[in-house]
Amino acid sequence: MSEENNINNEGGLLIVSEDACKAVIDRTSAFSAVENVFAAMSHGDAYNFPVIREAIGYADALYGFKSGFDRAGKTLGLKSGGYWPGNAAKGLTNHQSTIFLFDPDNGKLRALVGGNYLTAVRTAAASAVSIAHLARKDSKVLGMVGAGHQSTFQLRAALEQRSFEKVVAWNKNKERLKNLQAVAEELGVPFEAVEREQLCAEADVIITITSAFEPLLMKEWIKPGTHLACMGTDTKGKQEVDADLMSAATVFTDEVAQSISLGETQHAIASGTIKEEAIITIGDVINGKHAGRTSDDEITIFDGTGVGLQDLAIASVAVKLAVEKGEAQHISL
Ligand code: NAD
Repeated sequence: MSEENNINNEGGLLIVSEDACKAVIDRTSAFSAVENVFAAMSHGDAYNFPVIREAIGYADALYGFKSGFDRAGKTLGLKSGGYWPGNAAKGLTNHQSTIFLFDPDNGKLRALVGGNYLTAVRTAAASAVSIAHLARKDSKVLGMVGAGHQSTFQLRAALEQRSFEKVVAWNKNKERLKNLQAVAEELGVPFEAVEREQLCAEADVIITITSAFEPLLMKEWIKPGTHLACMGTDTKGKQEVDADLMSAATVFTDEVAQSISLGETQHAIASGTIKEEAIITIGDVINGKHAGRTSDDEITIFDGTGVGLQDLAIASVAVKLAVEKGEAQHISL
């Protein structure tokens, strides 16, 4: 974020609920918050702290923290939360998170912000930013791999980036594809459920957003000129695409350190298929330091690992807008 988000909370604590976040953050504000913070990371104005993510040995949950500091935007804080796989059966979102913002001048807690909706829109904004900067301009078919909670947010944001004429989709559990189909139909885009190989043969842009631990898309299936946004792999051991595909593609990411340790490139790095130096940050493309896609035949991959600064950036905008629109609660401390 290049612009400072001044939040006047008179020294007290601001609370911005999940409902308030939904009321004030739309896809346009999410896109610009995420694009700006990727640019700030590339300029060296903002950096992420090491991620903590642990299996807590209870409720099969993964819990942790993502944090960072944006000096230019004066945004300091963390997102605390994780993944509770049994939640959906209880009518809750599997991902649960809360964002904490602190005053970088004195360390005082400034705002508590619901993180569930913001995580979904900032993750969708990240793949949308990658499509905007890296996909072929004439992309017509969007392929969706995965139909869980994040997938409809991904679909809505992606469809705004190019003049897509068709959506093809695959999910392990076919029943869940109805959620994607409903969004595509609402937006007037034809939808077809397909097998994975056919999806790769048809799609110009592919988003993967699953919790898979094995490659779902093979190198030989991907046609020249495809852009892939691999968004599901955010933990050691997860994998969505064939590691060999990385050597046939130009690989971009939100943050190299996360990409090689817990993102989609972890497997290609471990096997020596690609070197860390070959991975380009999307911020460098946004800032014009890297050309991005250079030909219509090039396969581009965006490894969207999800960085703490994305959460802080969007939470900071949410707090500012919630204060302006009377949607924030204020507590005197
Ligand atoms: P969800 O539990 O709602 O859905 C999980 C999806 O993964 C479903 O489509 C399911 O069918 C599929 N899946 C699970 N195991 C699979 C397997 N072995 N093979 C193929 N498909 C499988 O989860 P969600 O909230 O939609 O999140 C999806 C993924 O995105 C998770 O891995 C999550 O950790 C990740 N995520 C990443 C970011 C980021 O910033 N990169 C942000 C949020 C979530």
